[in-house]
Amino acid sequence: MPYTTYLVEKGASHSFVAEAKPPTVTMPRIKALMTGSLPGFIDVVRNLNSPALLEDNVITQAKAAGKRMIFYGDETWVKLFPQHFVEYDGTTSFFVSDYTEVDDNVTRHLDKVLKRGDWDVLILHYLGLDHIGHISGPSSPLIGHKLSEMDNILMKIHTSLLSEERENLSPNLLVLCGDHGMSETGSHGASSMEEVNTPLILISSAFERKPGDIRHPKHVQQTDLAATLAIGLGLPIPENSVGSLLFPSIEGRPVREQLRFLHLNAVQLSKLLQENVPSYKKGSNPAPAQHPASTEQQG
Ligand SMILES: [Zn+2]
Repeated sequence: MPYTTYLVEKGASHSFVAEAKPPTVTMPRIKALMTGSLPGFIDVVRNLNSPALLEDNVITQAKAAGKRMIFYGDETWVKLFPQHFVEYDGTTSFFVSDYTEVDDNVTRHLDKVLKRGDWDVLILHYLGLDHIGHISGPSSPLIGHKLSEMDNILMKIHTSLLSEERENLSPNLLVLCGDHGMSETGSHGASSMEEVNTPLILISSAFERKPGDIRHPKHVQQTDLAATLAIGLGLPIPENSVGSLLFPSIEGRPVREQLRFLHLNAVQLSKLLQENVPSYKKGSNPAPAQHPASTEQQG
Protein backbone atom coordinates (compact mmCIF):
# COMPACT_ATOMS: atom_id res chain seq x y z
CA MET A 1 0.00 0.00 0.00
CA PRO A 2 2.54 2.63 -1.16
CA TYR A 3 0.23 5.65 -0.86
CA THR A 4 -1.00 4.70 2.61
CA THR A 5 2.58 3.91 3.70
CA TYR A 6 3.68 7.34 2.53
CA LEU A 7 0.88 8.99 4.53
CA VAL A 8 1.75 6.96 7.64
CA GLU A 9 5.47 7.63 7.45
CA LYS A 10 5.64 11.19 6.13
CA GLY A 11 2.16 12.56 5.56
CA ALA A 12 -0.28 14.65 7.59
CA SER A 13 -1.48 11.72 9.67
CA HIS A 14 -1.46 9.99 13.05
CA SER A 15 -1.28 6.19 13.15
CA PHE A 16 -2.23 3.80 15.89
CA VAL A 17 -2.52 0.09 16.59
CA ALA A 18 -6.02 -0.13 18.03
CA GLU A 19 -6.86 -3.11 20.20
CA ALA A 20 -10.27 -4.69 19.57
CA LYS A 21 -11.76 -6.69 22.42
CA PRO A 22 -13.11 -10.17 21.67
CA PRO A 23 -15.46 -11.28 20.19
CA THR A 24 -13.56 -10.02 17.14
CA VAL A 25 -16.58 -10.11 14.84
CA THR A 26 -18.18 -7.24 12.98
CA MET A 27 -21.35 -6.26 14.85
CA PRO A 28 -19.89 -5.86 18.36
CA ARG A 29 -16.83 -4.16 16.89
CA ILE A 30 -18.85 -1.55 14.98
CA LYS A 31 -20.71 -0.92 18.24
CA ALA A 32 -17.41 -0.48 20.09
CA LEU A 33 -16.16 1.93 17.41
CA MET A 34 -19.30 4.07 17.49
CA THR A 35 -20.34 3.90 21.19
CA GLY A 36 -16.85 3.72 22.72
CA SER A 37 -18.24 1.12 25.09
CA LEU A 38 -18.04 -2.64 25.40
CA PRO A 39 -21.42 -4.33 24.93
CA GLY A 40 -23.01 -5.43 28.17
CA PHE A 41 -25.85 -7.71 29.15
CA ILE A 42 -28.60 -5.11 28.59
CA ASP A 43 -27.47 -4.71 25.02
CA VAL A 44 -27.74 -8.46 24.39
CA VAL A 45 -31.29 -8.59 25.81
CA ARG A 46 -32.43 -5.56 23.78
CA ASN A 47 -31.02 -7.00 20.61
CA LEU A 48 -33.28 -10.04 20.71
CA ASN A 49 -36.05 -7.85 19.36
CA SER A 50 -34.25 -5.55 16.98
CA PRO A 51 -30.65 -5.19 15.95
CA ALA A 52 -30.95 -1.37 15.98
CA LEU A 53 -28.38 0.19 18.29
CA LEU A 54 -30.17 1.96 21.15
CA GLU A 55 -27.11 2.92 23.15
CA ASP A 56 -25.77 6.46 22.79
CA ASN A 57 -23.31 6.60 19.89
CA VAL A 58 -21.58 8.94 17.45
CA ILE A 59 -23.94 8.21 14.53
CA THR A 60 -27.10 8.99 16.54
CA GLN A 61 -25.49 12.13 17.95
CA ALA A 62 -24.42 13.23 14.48
CA LYS A 63 -27.92 12.72 13.13
CA ALA A 64 -29.41 14.69 16.03
CA ALA A 65 -26.99 17.52 15.19
CA GLY A 66 -28.31 17.59 11.61
CA LYS A 67 -25.28 15.97 9.98
CA ARG A 68 -25.97 14.34 6.64
CA MET A 69 -24.49 10.85 6.55
CA ILE A 70 -24.04 8.43 3.66
CA PHE A 71 -23.14 4.76 3.95
CA TYR A 72 -21.96 2.11 1.47
CA GLY A 73 -20.80 -1.41 2.37
CA ASP A 74 -21.41 -4.13 4.96
CA GLU A 75 -25.16 -4.01 5.68
CA THR A 76 -24.54 -4.53 9.41
CA TRP A 77 -24.34 -0.72 9.60
CA VAL A 78 -27.78 -0.34 8.06
CA LYS A 79 -29.21 -2.82 10.59
CA LEU A 80 -27.60 -0.99 13.52
CA PHE A 81 -28.55 2.47 12.23
CA PRO A 82 -31.75 1.97 10.23
CA GLN A 83 -32.89 5.58 10.03
CA HIS A 84 -29.64 7.45 10.18
CA PHE A 85 -28.32 7.64 6.63
CA VAL A 86 -29.72 10.05 4.05
CA GLU A 87 -28.49 7.56 1.45
CA TYR A 88 -27.16 4.01 1.74
CA ASP A 89 -26.40 0.85 -0.16
CA GLY A 90 -25.89 -2.19 2.06
CA THR A 91 -23.94 -5.23 0.92
CA THR A 92 -24.54 -8.66 2.40
CA SER A 93 -21.50 -10.48 3.77
CA PHE A 94 -23.29 -13.80 3.32
CA PHE A 95 -21.41 -14.89 0.18
CA VAL A 96 -17.93 -15.24 1.64
CA SER A 97 -16.60 -16.69 -1.64
CA ASP A 98 -17.13 -13.31 -3.31
CA TYR A 99 -14.39 -10.75 -2.79
CA THR A 100 -14.95 -8.66 -5.93
CA GLU A 101 -18.63 -7.71 -6.17
CA VAL A 102 -18.83 -6.88 -2.45
CA ASP A 103 -16.23 -4.15 -2.96
CA ASP A 104 -17.27 -3.01 -6.44
CA ASN A 105 -20.70 -2.38 -4.93
CA VAL A 106 -19.06 0.22 -2.66
CA THR A 107 -16.56 1.69 -5.10
CA ARG A 108 -19.11 2.24 -7.89
CA HIS A 109 -20.61 5.07 -5.81
CA LEU A 110 -17.33 6.84 -5.11
CA ASP A 111 -16.81 9.14 -8.10
CA LYS A 112 -20.30 10.54 -7.85
CA VAL A 113 -20.45 10.94 -4.08
CA LEU A 114 -17.02 12.57 -3.85
CA LYS A 115 -18.11 15.26 -6.31
CA ARG A 116 -21.20 16.07 -4.28
CA GLY A 117 -20.92 18.62 -1.52
CA ASP A 118 -24.15 17.63 0.25
CA TRP A 119 -22.88 15.32 3.00
CA ASP A 120 -20.94 15.66 6.25
CA VAL A 121 -19.99 12.05 6.96
CA LEU A 122 -19.31 9.25 4.47
CA ILE A 123 -18.81 5.70 5.79
CA LEU A 124 -17.49 2.90 3.59
CA HIS A 125 -17.18 -0.66 4.88
CA TYR A 126 -15.27 -2.88 2.46
CA LEU A 127 -15.62 -6.65 2.85
CA GLY A 128 -13.30 -8.13 0.24
CA LEU A 129 -10.14 -8.37 2.35
CA ASP A 130 -12.01 -10.19 5.12
CA HIS A 131 -13.51 -12.59 2.60
CA ILE A 132 -10.11 -13.38 1.07
CA GLY A 133 -8.91 -14.20 4.59
CA HIS A 134 -11.76 -16.66 5.03
CA ILE A 135 -11.18 -18.25 1.62
CA SER A 136 -7.41 -18.58 1.50
CA GLY A 137 -5.78 -17.02 4.57
CA PRO A 138 -3.53 -13.99 5.18
CA SER A 139 -0.71 -15.23 2.93
CA SER A 140 -2.96 -15.67 -0.09
CA PRO A 141 -1.67 -14.12 -3.34
CA LEU A 142 -5.09 -12.44 -3.55
CA ILE A 143 -4.24 -10.25 -0.54
CA GLY A 144 -1.64 -8.17 -2.40
CA HIS A 145 -4.06 -7.30 -5.19
CA LYS A 146 -6.79 -6.40 -2.73
CA LEU A 147 -4.49 -4.16 -0.65
CA SER A 148 -3.36 -2.43 -3.83
CA GLU A 149 -7.02 -1.86 -4.78
CA MET A 150 -7.72 -0.43 -1.30
CA ASP A 151 -4.61 1.79 -1.51
CA ASN A 152 -5.85 3.29 -4.79
CA ILE A 153 -9.26 3.92 -3.23
CA LEU A 154 -7.69 5.67 -0.27
CA MET A 155 -5.66 7.83 -2.68
CA LYS A 156 -8.78 8.70 -4.67
CA ILE A 157 -10.67 9.76 -1.53
CA HIS A 158 -7.74 11.67 -0.06
CA THR A 159 -7.01 13.53 -3.31
CA SER A 160 -10.65 14.48 -3.63
CA LEU A 161 -10.84 15.73 -0.04
CA LEU A 162 -7.70 17.84 -0.51
CA SER A 163 -9.04 19.49 -3.66
CA GLU A 164 -12.36 20.18 -1.91
CA GLU A 165 -10.46 21.82 0.96
CA ARG A 166 -8.99 24.36 -1.43
CA GLU A 167 -12.45 25.86 -1.80
CA ASN A 168 -13.79 25.08 1.65
CA LEU A 169 -11.26 26.17 4.25
CA SER A 170 -12.03 23.72 7.06
CA PRO A 171 -9.94 20.50 7.07
CA ASN A 172 -11.49 17.08 6.55
CA LEU A 173 -10.70 13.97 8.57
CA LEU A 174 -10.16 10.66 6.80
CA VAL A 175 -10.19 7.61 9.09
CA LEU A 176 -8.86 4.27 7.87
CA CYS A 177 -9.46 1.35 10.21
CA GLY A 178 -10.35 -2.30 10.49
CA ASP A 179 -13.15 -3.60 12.69
CA HIS A 180 -11.09 -6.68 13.59
CA GLY A 181 -7.91 -8.48 12.55
CA MET A 182 -7.30 -11.87 10.97
CA SER A 183 -5.76 -15.00 12.50
CA GLU A 184 -2.93 -17.07 11.00
CA THR A 185 -5.58 -19.20 9.32
CA GLY A 186 -7.58 -16.22 8.01
CA SER A 187 -10.46 -16.43 10.46
CA HIS A 188 -11.45 -14.16 13.38
CA GLY A 189 -13.65 -14.06 16.47
CA ALA A 190 -11.11 -15.00 19.14
CA SER A 191 -8.41 -13.09 21.01
CA SER A 192 -5.09 -13.86 19.31
CA MET A 193 -2.81 -10.89 18.74
CA GLU A 194 -3.47 -11.04 14.98
CA GLU A 195 -7.22 -10.86 15.57
CA VAL A 196 -7.29 -8.05 18.15
CA ASN A 197 -4.68 -5.71 16.63
CA THR A 198 -6.18 -3.41 14.02
CA PRO A 199 -4.74 -0.45 12.13
CA LEU A 200 -6.20 2.97 12.86
CA ILE A 201 -4.98 5.87 10.75
CA LEU A 202 -6.24 9.44 11.08
CA ILE A 203 -5.43 11.57 8.05
CA SER A 204 -6.07 15.32 7.94
CA SER A 205 -4.32 18.42 6.69
CA ALA A 206 -4.77 19.63 10.29
CA PHE A 207 -2.03 17.11 11.23
CA GLU A 208 0.63 18.65 8.97
CA ARG A 209 4.15 17.63 9.94
CA LYS A 210 7.61 18.89 9.13
CA PRO A 211 10.25 16.69 7.44
CA GLY A 212 12.00 14.49 9.99
CA ASP A 213 9.02 14.42 12.37
CA ILE A 214 8.90 10.68 13.11
CA ARG A 215 5.66 9.48 14.63
CA HIS A 216 5.65 5.92 15.92
CA PRO A 217 2.20 4.27 15.97
CA LYS A 218 0.93 4.16 19.56
CA HIS A 219 -1.06 1.29 20.99
CA VAL A 220 -4.57 2.46 21.83
CA GLN A 221 -8.02 0.95 22.32
CA GLN A 222 -10.57 0.61 19.55
CA THR A 223 -13.02 2.27 21.94
CA ASP A 224 -10.92 5.49 21.84
CA LEU A 225 -12.24 6.37 18.37
CA ALA A 226 -15.77 7.33 19.50
CA ALA A 227 -14.61 10.10 21.85
CA THR A 228 -12.14 11.33 19.22
CA LEU A 229 -14.78 11.50 16.47
CA ALA A 230 -17.27 13.16 18.80
CA ILE A 231 -14.79 15.89 19.73
CA GLY A 232 -13.76 16.31 16.08
CA LEU A 233 -17.37 16.73 14.94
CA GLY A 234 -18.32 18.96 17.88
CA LEU A 235 -20.73 16.37 19.31
CA PRO A 236 -21.23 15.13 22.88
CA ILE A 237 -19.08 12.10 23.70
CA PRO A 238 -21.36 9.00 23.85
CA GLU A 239 -22.39 8.56 27.49
CA ASN A 240 -21.13 4.98 27.93
CA SER A 241 -17.84 5.54 26.15
CA VAL A 242 -14.85 4.27 28.15
CA GLY A 243 -12.41 5.67 25.59
CA SER A 244 -9.83 8.42 25.82
CA LEU A 245 -9.63 11.14 23.21
CA LEU A 246 -6.64 10.29 20.96
CA PHE A 247 -4.47 13.17 22.06
CA PRO A 248 -2.28 13.48 18.93
CA SER A 249 -5.43 14.50 17.03
CA ILE A 250 -5.69 17.76 19.03
CA GLU A 251 -1.95 18.47 19.52
CA GLY A 252 -1.97 21.19 16.87
CA ARG A 253 -4.81 23.13 18.53
CA PRO A 254 -4.28 26.09 20.88
CA VAL A 255 -3.59 24.95 24.47
CA ARG A 256 -6.84 26.45 25.76
CA GLU A 257 -8.80 24.33 23.28
CA GLN A 258 -6.79 21.19 24.11
CA LEU A 259 -7.66 21.67 27.77
CA ARG A 260 -11.33 22.14 26.97
CA PHE A 261 -11.43 18.89 24.95
CA LEU A 262 -9.64 16.95 27.69
CA HIS A 263 -12.03 18.43 30.24
CA LEU A 264 -15.06 17.28 28.22
CA ASN A 265 -13.64 13.74 28.12
CA ALA A 266 -12.81 13.79 31.85
CA VAL A 267 -16.28 15.02 32.83
CA GLN A 268 -17.95 12.32 30.69
CA LEU A 269 -15.72 9.57 32.12
CA SER A 270 -16.23 10.66 35.72
CA LYS A 271 -20.00 10.70 35.17
CA LEU A 272 -19.82 7.17 33.83
CA LEU A 273 -17.73 6.11 36.81
CA GLN A 274 -20.14 7.74 39.25
CA GLU A 275 -23.12 5.94 37.70
CA ASN A 276 -21.49 2.51 37.52
CA VAL A 277 -19.18 2.16 40.49
CA PRO A 278 -21.20 2.04 43.75
CA SER A 279 -18.21 2.96 45.92
CA TYR A 280 -17.48 6.10 43.86
CA LYS A 281 -18.38 9.28 45.71
CA LYS A 282 -17.44 12.71 44.54
CA GLY A 283 -15.27 14.48 47.08
CA SER A 284 -14.87 11.41 49.29
CA ASN A 285 -11.12 11.98 49.55
CA PRO A 286 -9.96 12.80 53.11
CA ALA A 287 -9.88 16.56 53.73
CA PRO A 288 -6.41 18.01 53.14
CA ALA A 289 -4.34 18.32 56.33
CA GLN A 290 -4.36 21.82 57.77
CA HIS A 291 -1.23 23.83 57.48
CA PRO A 292 0.53 23.79 60.90
CA ALA A 293 0.99 27.56 60.82
CA SER A 294 -2.73 28.22 60.36
CA THR A 295 -3.57 25.79 63.19
CA GLU A 296 -1.27 27.73 65.46
CA GLN A 297 -2.86 31.01 64.48
CA GLN A 298 -6.30 29.67 65.14
CA GLY A 299 -5.22 28.05 68.42
ZN1 LIG B 1 -14.95 -12.30 8.44
